[in-house]
Amino acid sequence: MLISTGPTREPIDPVRFLSNYSTGYMGAQVADRALARGHRVTVVSGPGTEPLPPGARVIPIERADEMARVLRQEAPRADVVVMAAAVCDFRLAHPRLTKLSRRGQLTLTFTATPDIIGRLPRRKGQLVVGFAVEDPPVVPRARRKLRAKRLDLLLAQQLEPRGAPFGRRAVRAWLLERGAAVTALGRQTKPVVARVLLDKIEALWYGQTGRLRRDNDGPRRRTSPREASRV
Ligand code: C5P
Repeated sequence: MLISTGPTREPIDPVRFLSNYSTGYMGAQVADRALARGHRVTVVSGPGTEPLPPGARVIPIERADEMARVLRQEAPRADVVVMAAAVCDFRLAHPRLTKLSRRGQLTLTFTATPDIIGRLPRRKGQLVVGFAVEDPPVVPRARRKLRAKRLDLLLAQQLEPRGAPFGRRAVRAWLLERGAAVTALGRQTKPVVARVLLDKIEALWYGQTGRLRRDNDGPRRRTSPREASRV
């Protein structure tokens, strides 16, 4: 499982950057759950403040273009790609090479970063999972994103006035699946959201393909479709 997490930092000059409030908590929780269930996990991590679980292979990055390069390298080997990172949507067109000095006004020109997950080459059978933070109405906006980014699953979270969904706050969330009904998860903590997401990923991966499942507490067995649909 390849998981991206944390914010990116886009340089303005040698001492300043553009970033966002992501702490990396969601991605760390997904990585933690995945490891607990016996999956091998690589985390491509922006400079968040939350610790990553021991046992994960961690590749640190800072900028969106670094995250894109590492994901292009790593994704072909991954069965599941979970893009939980809060990638900056803009970067400075021309970062300054010397420190900007204080002045009355400053005008900077930003340019859009490439959509990493939307452009990632896909391997047949690979599951691609995205996250979104949206102002209400969340579901129609999230549906558009699921389609535009060609995702199998999208975990959408509602942006709220008091800072949610960043950090350890509980989030109001919906799980969207390509070609299926939307599941409203209500307000949940991120560890719970991570568990629900892992349940769904495993149901799709093992249930639909008849791949062998390795349980932590038992021998390898095939998941029956009935079992998968209970998730
Ligand atoms: O920022 P946005 O709402 O479009 O993010 C939705 C999904 O797209 C997230 O999974 C995020 O990690 C991913 N993304 C990306 N490349 C970007 C911006 C976002 O892969 N430049």
